[in-house]
Amino acid sequence: MTKSHHKLIIIGSGPAAWTAAIYAARAELKPLVLAGEQSGGQLMLTTKVENYPGFADGVMGQDLMAAMRQQAEKLGVEIIDQNATALSVIGSQFSVVSSGSTGFQSIGLEPANRQPTNRKQKTLPDFAWTKSRRAGENGKQITAKAVILATGASAITLKLPGEDRLMGRGVGTCAVCDAPFYKGKDTVFIIGGGDSAIEEAMEISKFASNIIVLVRKDSMRASPIMQKRIELAQNIKIWYRSEAIELLGDKRLEKVKVNKDGIIAEFSADGLFYAIGHKPATEWLKGSGVEVDKNGYISTQSSVLGSPPAGAWSASDWRAGRLSDLGRSVVGQSVTETDELKTGKLESENRKQRTDNLFPTMTSISGIFAAGDCVDFRYRQAIVAAGFGAMAALDCQRWLESQ
Ligand code: NDP
Repeated sequence: MTKSHHKLIIIGSGPAAWTAAIYAARAELKPLVLAGEQSGGQLMLTTKVENYPGFADGVMGQDLMAAMRQQAEKLGVEIIDQNATALSVIGSQFSVVSSGSTGFQSIGLEPANRQPTNRKQKTLPDFAWTKSRRAGENGKQITAKAVILATGASAITLKLPGEDRLMGRGVGTCAVCDAPFYKGKDTVFIIGGGDSAIEEAMEISKFASNIIVLVRKDSMRASPIMQKRIELAQNIKIWYRSEAIELLGDKRLEKVKVNKDGIIAEFSADGLFYAIGHKPATEWLKGSGVEVDKNGYISTQSSVLGSPPAGAWSASDWRAGRLSDLGRSVVGQSVTETDELKTGKLESENRKQRTDNLFPTMTSISGIFAAGDCVDFRYRQAIVAAGFGAMAALDCQRWLESQ
């Protein structure tokens, strides 16, 4: 295992990670990006993105990610296409271990060797994704003064027959993103009974004629106010005790096979969206001391997303700041309740915590920041993730200067 030391490691390769890398590089923090074995994040699964500012004609998700990566590379960001597997605190530094699989696939940019992407595109961008294999690269232990976690989240899907083939071709995970593409279309299915399902159904109902929400139980989990809203919508039907069991179509989704009350039938469909929850990529952080909420989202000091996730910190912890910059967790323990607070040592720690509270993107461990969909349980948009990435880099820069 090779070892190296950096001022800042950024873990991830979606909009949050690349934006953080671009900002950090311009602040001369010389960041290293651990981009993962499959670089690019959720946008690699989408086709055209029309809601990312700056692209009047929209941009393919893969090309947007390629452009961000290229921008970071041009600014001198070092990139390793390996997965982070463990994070720990060693004194005043952090250690990140990455996996060194043999023959892993890395995705790089080779402008001189342009190839079409696997998506249908009328014109090729100035660069295109190419795939290369770097066999046998070893795992690494990387130490750093600061870390930005931007590992993202993935939409949960049902892995239905036909799903892999039709993903991005009528089957998707973000109806809010893709809704305008369904203008004038006839029928779109949404799977799920939570707030997301309703939000997605409401959005797409502005464009398509008939929206059918498949709810597996007798009732919806969504909040009452959202349920009231969907009842008022003219073109949304809710089918309870209903589950999609197969997605049919060759090049695009054409039909959905549904089991409704034990009766199986096929229905014509222009689109189908999963809204059955997201899974943040944070399992690898287990044992690191970085606090996550009950759903696995990283808890930060930010109030941008509303109140702190339930169970993350008590209100008094919230006001007083946290002590975990010493590598120990104080979840649920009010600072004012500790005897140690009276000692000079903790007085100075407290001063430090007050400083830490100036960094909304800081996690429960001082010096570790988090951005993007691994934090964001609410908005989950590329532009929001990019904004979070910028915030994390700026917080990190100011925090490093304050040390
Ligand atoms: P939820 O976990 O709240 O809901 C997931 C839904 O998917 C449930 O109805 C669940 O069914 C269903 N589901 C899960 N697995 C399956 C399966 N295998 N087959 C069929 N259905 C399945 O996730 P959401 O993404 O909706 O919401 C996440 C959080 O974000 C919530 O706290 C929500 O309130 C919040 N949110 C808030 C919004 C707002 O305020 N505007 C908008 C969107 C989300 P079952 O109930 O049977 O388990």
